[in-house]
Amino acid sequence: MKRLEESFLKTSLKSKWILAVGATIFISYAIISVVLYIALQTWLLNNEEKNAMRTVDDMTSFFYAQERSVTIQNLQNNSALMKAILTQEQTVRIFNMDGIEVLSINDITSVADFPNNANINETNISEQTVDGKDSFVVHQLVQIGPFQGIMQLIHPLTTFHSMMKYILTTIIIVGIGALLFSVSISYYLANLLMKPLVQLRDAMNLVRNDGFKAQPEFQYKADDEIGDLLHMYRTLMNELEISFTKQQQFVADASHELRTPIQVIEGHLSLLSRWGKNDPQVLEESLHTSLAEITRMKKMIEELLQLARNEEADETKSADVEVVYNQVSKELKQLYPNANFELTVIGQIGNAVITEHALTQIFRNIMSNGIRYNINEPILQTTIQYTKSAIFVTIEDNGIGIAQEHLPHIFDRFYRIDASRTNAISGTGLGLSITKMLLEKYQGEINVESTLNNGTAFVIKLFKK
Ligand code: ADP
Repeated sequence: MKRLEESFLKTSLKSKWILAVGATIFISYAIISVVLYIALQTWLLNNEEKNAMRTVDDMTSFFYAQERSVTIQNLQNNSALMKAILTQEQTVRIFNMDGIEVLSINDITSVADFPNNANINETNISEQTVDGKDSFVVHQLVQIGPFQGIMQLIHPLTTFHSMMKYILTTIIIVGIGALLFSVSISYYLANLLMKPLVQLRDAMNLVRNDGFKAQPEFQYKADDEIGDLLHMYRTLMNELEISFTKQQQFVADASHELRTPIQVIEGHLSLLSRWGKNDPQVLEESLHTSLAEITRMKKMIEELLQLARNEEADETKSADVEVVYNQVSKELKQLYPNANFELTVIGQIGNAVITEHALTQIFRNIMSNGIRYNINEPILQTTIQYTKSAIFVTIEDNGIGIAQEHLPHIFDRFYRIDASRTNAISGTGLGLSITKMLLEKYQGEINVESTLNNGTAFVIKLFKK
């Protein structure tokens, strides 16, 4: 049994399906057929018995209806009427009480056995084989005029048996037909449904061996569960491919960006080791540049780690936008004493769905950009506008501005505009991408408008608690 189970588990899904459907249909059909066959057999046999008994009753009534003076001889000469009572296959014999045959109607079969020890006064019915044929044999006491004897009716079951044979043959033929039909239907269905699964397996194999580029088209277009599965697989693979490419790009960009400060430091250190040690000016300059590069590298590593971590949003927390703004502007005022901060608040005050930490970072990135990318005395005009469900913060600077062609890219990782223009201003190109990531995490939005040499305005949207 266990071995059978094991070999069943080993067969393909298609064979399992066909086997299961075939076996279920076969077993159900077999059970129904057996029940039907037995029921029909019993009913038909009962009918045959009733027919035999009816003939016996008819004969008995016929004998009773005769005149009192009628003799066996009279009946023998006039047997046509009695023949009409019997069917073609039935035979009736009359015996005297000593068991000697005195009359026979429709003499088709041989004499049947008399019942042993049976009460002769009662009607006796038995099943016997007469002339090799299964038959019902009925014995009954009869009174024909003054004569008293025993009537024997032989009722062969040939019609019944040929009927049963016919039914059995039909059941077998229909059964085989139904089995073949159901197996071919299930074979067709299994083929139809397995094909996309086999294709899916092959596609997965291909991706495993040749990477995302190897994506075959699926021919299965039906809008059912398998269609959904294939669609989901394709969507998942596309998403995976995008995130895989993004990750590769990120690693490539990060290593490239980190290599630059390392090369600068390396250059300065080798300069120092060769002849700069004794030149205080070279020493001073190299140390200063190396330190600045190390600070930039440190900042970049911290920002990269933050981007890589991309922690889950904590939507239970909320932040008071005005309080956070005041903290950040205070902090920046210490770093850039010549910067000016102006704030306008409009509407009903309410907290924003974001952590204070995240909002601090967002303000710090946008506001410090406005100060750093600025050749004038920096003026940062901020408007906090509270609406019913959202909070809009507009931060406008009077800086160098951003050309239209760069605007769509400034939120990309490592994107820095025109190295020569901003070279003097140290940066990593990660600040705005972190800002966008943080806002998106809290369902926020960020938009930018800028005029070159005039200034830039960032508008952020946050949801109210
Ligand atoms: P980083 O400042 O570290 O270079 P960001 O992601 O913060 O990186 O900014 C990307 C680029 O967008 C900057 O290099 C800069 O050229 C430009 N930029 C951002 N903010 C401003 C601004 N307020 N005014 C002008 N240019 C800006």
